[in-house]
Amino acid sequence: KANKMFHPKPTVIEVNGQKIGGDSRLALMAGPCSVESEEQIVGIAQEVKKMGANFLRGGAFKPRTSPYAFQGLQYEGLELLMEAREKTELPIVTEIMSPYDIETFVEKVDIIQVGARNMQNFELLKELGRTSKPILLKRGLSATIEEWLMSAEYIMSGGNEKIILCERGIRTFETYTRNTLDLSAIPAVKNLSHLPVVVDPSHATGKWWMVEPLARAAVAVGSDGLIIEVHNDPANALCDGQQSIKPHVFGELMEQIKLIAKAV
Ligand code: PEP
Ligand code: MN
Repeated sequence: KANKMFHPKPTVIEVNGQKIGGDSRLALMAGPCSVESEEQIVGIAQEVKKMGANFLRGGAFKPRTSPYAFQGLQYEGLELLMEAREKTELPIVTEIMSPYDIETFVEKVDIIQVGARNMQNFELLKELGRTSKPILLKRGLSATIEEWLMSAEYIMSGGNEKIILCERGIRTFETYTRNTLDLSAIPAVKNLSHLPVVVDPSHATGKWWMVEPLARAAVAVGSDGLIIEVHNDPANALCDGQQSIKPHVFGELMEQIKLIAKAV
């Protein structure tokens, strides 16, 4: 059960020997929106690791608004992520879109991401509940906190309790930012649930220069970690370049986070 009543102590999830949640060190997930090439993903992984990231993010299967936009390198992308993991020892976080790919993801990936658009894909959630992989469950585009926790419940009801929630901004009337980061969701979730929660300031704002202040705010309100888009060449990124920060900016952010965080 996701409800704290049934489980008063914070859940701590172990991924390749690293812990997320409770008093653990912050989960700092960084990497490009999409895996684009071997050179790109391995290069970014090495840079963000040096700067303090402890997980590598990167999309292989991309849920794009237009079917004509770059859809990701798909299975080849997973292979490249595995190569980056081999070279850096960073566990990999990547998004699944279809229940047909579960077996492949279980074999190849360390944390399976469920994107905002699939938060209420109940068949996918039920199937993931039958695995024992950690799941990063992003909040839906217009989901209430209650609906989000119920989606976690779908996974947990199948027996998989390893869920990391991810606040990534919600749709509001404001159009200046891509979404509106709901910072209040972090203390709310902490009050209602024992599950760890991380914040994605990249998709929340859609603007690279807003990532740093909101990442600091997320840590200040008690987030268990951050997931941040980092690209070596944002201007030419195949996806979400406008919200991606360069590695050196990520490095500066890590220095700032150390001043706020419980334990980095
Ligand atoms: C992503 O992490 O690249 C992504 C597509 O995020 P979201 O599902 O939050 O839009
Ligand atoms: Mn993205």
